[in-house]
Amino acid sequence: MQMQQRVDLHMHSCYSDGKLNPNQLIDLCAKAEMPIISITDHDNVNGIEEAIVYGNQKGIQVIPGVEVSTDFEGIEVHLLGYFFDYNNAHLKDFLNDIRLMRRKRNELIVSKLNEMGSKISFVSIESKVSSQTTIGRPHIANELNEEGFVNSYYDAFIKYIGDGKPAYVKKTNPDIREAVEQISEAGGLSFIAHPGKALRDDTLIRLINKGIDGLEVIHPSHSDDDIEYFTGIAAEYFLLICGGSDFHGGSKNDGKNFGKYSVTPVEVANMKRRLFS
Ligand code: AMP
Ligand code: ZN
Ligand code: FE
Ligand code: FE
Repeated sequence: MQMQQRVDLHMHSCYSDGKLNPNQLIDLCAKAEMPIISITDHDNVNGIEEAIVYGNQKGIQVIPGVEVSTDFEGIEVHLLGYFFDYNNAHLKDFLNDIRLMRRKRNELIVSKLNEMGSKISFVSIESKVSSQTTIGRPHIANELNEEGFVNSYYDAFIKYIGDGKPAYVKKTNPDIREAVEQISEAGGLSFIAHPGKALRDDTLIRLINKGIDGLEVIHPSHSDDDIEYFTGIAAEYFLLICGGSDFHGGSKNDGKNFGKYSVTPVEVANMKRRLFS
């Protein structure tokens, strides 16, 4: 029997909080014999071009992807976009504004940490990544760990920068509706990322009414029960399905997930059918 081909539509590169660059990710996907993939950096499409070019060389189709942090009724909901024009000026401006908002917030977090005795600087964090990168709390956690101000990456979240902790500053996210519209105007499809336990029942239905095209059904955080539930909802509301490993290059103890969470070329064909019908 031929093994079903694996399609991983959720992973992060060094253009957000992943460890590997797009080419290194593609090399791993080639080794795993994946015919189609998507790199979905947080609020960032800057790695897509090089991924597509290198993917072509390796015989891998790279679908333009992004994971946008959005606001829905005061909670942060991650929205995955696929198949948009990654050169669309409005979409790029929209994502740029989000990164500027993040920058202000990161500076506030760093100044709180400085008041608490840490000597890290935002300039030093920025100097370690490309100017095209989305910087977030994971980068701050790594910096605190390197400084020795905390005992580990996770310790940084537990003691200082996790939600509600002393150096935490809430991020200002765009409304989910706006993100859905931006992706749609750029010719793409939007999916609710890892809905899990938090986004179920009434909340999920209200989210679906925001105009999303599909649900991320396959994700490391989902139990078998979650997968069954979201598959049922997708069928009931005529939604598309996506899924993937949310691999960050091993930087979040996620090395074991790569290759284990995937959909198939059938889900991608369904997306294309939706786009071109
Ligand atoms: P940001 O988008 O800058 O708010 O950063 C969010 C990211 O920080 C999440 O995607 C996680 O990777 C990481 N994160 C948030 N809270 C925790 C936590 N308690 N432990 C470990 N990682 C966390
Ligand atoms: Zn991430
Ligand atoms: Fe996410
Ligand atoms: Fe992700």
